[in-house]
Amino acid sequence: MSTLALTKKVLDIGIVGLGTAGLASSLFLSRLGHQITIFEKSSQDQLTDAAGAGLGLQPIGLTVLKKLGVLDNILDHGSKIVHLHSLTREGKAVLDLRYSDFRPELYGVGIHRDALFQALYNQCLDDDNITIVPNIDVTTVKENKQGNGSYVCHNVEGSSSKQEGPFNLIVCADGRNSIRQNMNVKSYESKYKFGCLWSILPDVDGEFSTKMDDGGTTLFQRLDSTKTMLGLLPTGRTPSMSKEDPTLVSLFWSLDMNTVSQVRQNGLEHWKEQVVALEPRTRRLLDTLQSLDQLIPASYSDTFMPTLYDAETYTAFVGDCAHATSPQLGQGANLALVDAWVLSKAIDAHQGNVIPALHQYDHERKWRLRFYQLNSRILTPVFQSNSQIIGQLRDAFMGPLCNFSLSKRQMLTVLAGAQNNGIPWTTIPEEEFMGFTYEYESE
Ligand SMILES: Cc1cc2nc3c(=O)[nH]c(=O)nc-3n(C[C@H](O)[C@H](O)[C@H](O)COP(=O)(O)OP(=O)(O)OC[C@H]3O[C@@H](n4cnc5c(N)ncnc54)[C@H](O)[C@@H]3O)c2cc1C
Repeated sequence: MSTLALTKKVLDIGIVGLGTAGLASSLFLSRLGHQITIFEKSSQDQLTDAAGAGLGLQPIGLTVLKKLGVLDNILDHGSKIVHLHSLTREGKAVLDLRYSDFRPELYGVGIHRDALFQALYNQCLDDDNITIVPNIDVTTVKENKQGNGSYVCHNVEGSSSKQEGPFNLIVCADGRNSIRQNMNVKSYESKYKFGCLWSILPDVDGEFSTKMDDGGTTLFQRLDSTKTMLGLLPTGRTPSMSKEDPTLVSLFWSLDMNTVSQVRQNGLEHWKEQVVALEPRTRRLLDTLQSLDQLIPASYSDTFMPTLYDAETYTAFVGDCAHATSPQLGQGANLALVDAWVLSKAIDAHQGNVIPALHQYDHERKWRLRFYQLNSRILTPVFQSNSQIIGQLRDAFMGPLCNFSLSKRQMLTVLAGAQNNGIPWTTIPEEEFMGFTYEYESE
């Protein structure tokens, strides 16, 4: 054993939340030899059926998944996306981007949330350093006044609050409605007026998920001003489906959330007519949608944390709990995966000394996150708002920008997750977004 390994501290780490950020953080930190306990509010039964809209994984997220050793599993279940195509109702191109125009090897993957969850969760189950405790609704994190570290607090039915720990480090990965609001940390939240109704449907005749000539599928959108947007993301299959089952498509119908009750009142057939009128190829896909209950509402909000850690309670904030955005850029799960990787690198670099590691994590992550948060903030109303003028400008200029090589490259680097904090036409180190295409063993 090297001297370096001898001086490394083994940490007891408490993780709040078993989503993408919590799972990835657990795996990376456990591989450094630390002891992990994950607290998750869902029950054991709910865990084995991860629900939620389909996700687009970008090259940067796929590179982290390769480091975690689950890339083959992801590629097995997901749909390879090579093209992003948005048309107006009249058929004018607003976005027409191919990953290969940036780097020939690159692509994205559309995946069912359950497939991503199972790939990471099964690795956690096989890992002796990781303990998963379901049914724990964490309320806050409290400093351990007797020494370093802190406690995870939760309510127990019929009794008062209970605390678990102490832990040397807490990773708060509990998503958009986080316990950070009960902690003494600065964070700001703003809600969007627009959100979406989503559903995951079998693409029975393969209209949206058949492979194109260059070996992949298209993330397709149809737009009518900024008020209406239909998104169709090829989503592959869940782990419980067989290869004979038709692949799935995630359908997103963007709308002002104040109009959801109106959609319900008008009934399913009325809604289907609107969708088919905008994109006639959806007719067969919509035949499989039997009830309005299959259209699930999702509202959006932005979260901003000036600092991504709390030194008093030895807590790092990762994923949506630190930087939720609207899904317009399709980056949330990808950013969560990168957070987990950067946090574990910082813990490793400081040999388990938590405070300097948390400082490094914050320093390395915050500018990149701010760049993506700003882009999301600017782009969301361009696709989802009540502004007519923004819609007209978008329809006039965005399509041509996709054909002009410098602006196309800028858009593609943002999409791939490769953007270097907004410095035009420069990227982060290539291995961070190309890594999943390299022929080497996972770390
Ligand atoms: C409609 C829609 C489409 C999207 N599309 C994309 C996309 O294409 N690409 C992309 O990258 N991202 C997309 N996103 C965003 C993505 O879903 C999130 O960014 C990502 O899931 C964040 O992961 P997370 O682990 O931080 O949080 P979550 O996935 O929300 O996980 C949080 C976990 O913590 C648990 N938890 C919460 N509170 C507590 C508590 N008090 N105690 C214990 N456990 C708790 C929850 O049960 C959950 O398991 C989309 C989001 C939406 C809504």
